[in-house]
Amino acid sequence: MAAAHGNTEAQSTYKELQSALHRLGCPPNYPNVTLFSVFTSPVGGRGLKAVKDIPRGTPIICEKELFWVVNGTVGAIQARDPHFQALFCPPNNPTPQGRFEANRFQMGKDTEGRQKEGIFEKASRLNHSCVPNAYFAWNYKSRRLTVHAIVDVPKDAEIFVNYCADEHLMDRQQRQQGLGSYQFNCTCQACQPNTNFGMASAQRRQEMQTLDTRIDNNANNTLPVERSQQLIDIKAFSLLLQQEGLFYPQLADVYQLEVSWYIREIEQFADGTGSTRYRMGLLEEALEVARKQLEWDVACTGHDSPEVKKTSRTLKVICGLGQ
Ligand SMILES: [Zn+2]
Repeated sequence: MAAAHGNTEAQSTYKELQSALHRLGCPPNYPNVTLFSVFTSPVGGRGLKAVKDIPRGTPIICEKELFWVVNGTVGAIQARDPHFQALFCPPNNPTPQGRFEANRFQMGKDTEGRQKEGIFEKASRLNHSCVPNAYFAWNYKSRRLTVHAIVDVPKDAEIFVNYCADEHLMDRQQRQQGLGSYQFNCTCQACQPNTNFGMASAQRRQEMQTLDTRIDNNANNTLPVERSQQLIDIKAFSLLLQQEGLFYPQLADVYQLEVSWYIREIEQFADGTGSTRYRMGLLEEALEVARKQLEWDVACTGHDSPEVKKTSRTLKVICGLGQ
């Protein structure tokens, strides 16, 4: 019986994943075609530009590192790598260390739990935008850095990623400080304070920062009125992220918060109290949000990522609550 149950679960997970891929309309495997070329970027240095239309969710790069370090210092042998030497080097720090700091990506942890930072032949060419059209993630299962289009990227557009975590919660000054080691002065649409988008963006990011703190502080509140407020805050956060545009990995995280809220609420009625109709309504909401989360997990990190696996497990938990 257990084996049969396991098979049903596997089939259900497979079905959810296929539905998410279908909604995205993207190929489940890494394409063999090259989607970008290296070019001289108008924002500085060399960048990557789309050589054809790239639909959202498309894997653009899946790459192994040239080398990695754990102490933030590039070694003499690594500095001689010709691919590394071909990467951008900041004029005010024309040393291997300066080149390393301008091109590194965070990877997973080493066996002793130390943060690894790597240099990549292709991905290290990616320039930054505070409103990116692509997302990079370290897939610790495949041990590759992946880059996915998070919106439809038109042919000839430059491919941009966020360099720092939590940029959606930072004002312009904080973002510029975070970009310090990359020797990069961002001039994206969110960094233009006198435009409509720039002003609206500054306000949205401030509101998101307030909401983020409040959601975090109220995570363990239990009174019904406090729980209701928590869901209102999570939904408001989700809306702001969508209005700001292009923050889909963070949107997946907020969906996860929302799903957790529904699961906690459903568990309140595990003893049979409360109306069945209310409980079923919560289950339906939870399933819908978890499916949206799965879709963004696939779009941002690929169908084979640890994030997709985790959300698939959550979907199974929700389905289990309905039985
Ligand atoms: Zn910017």
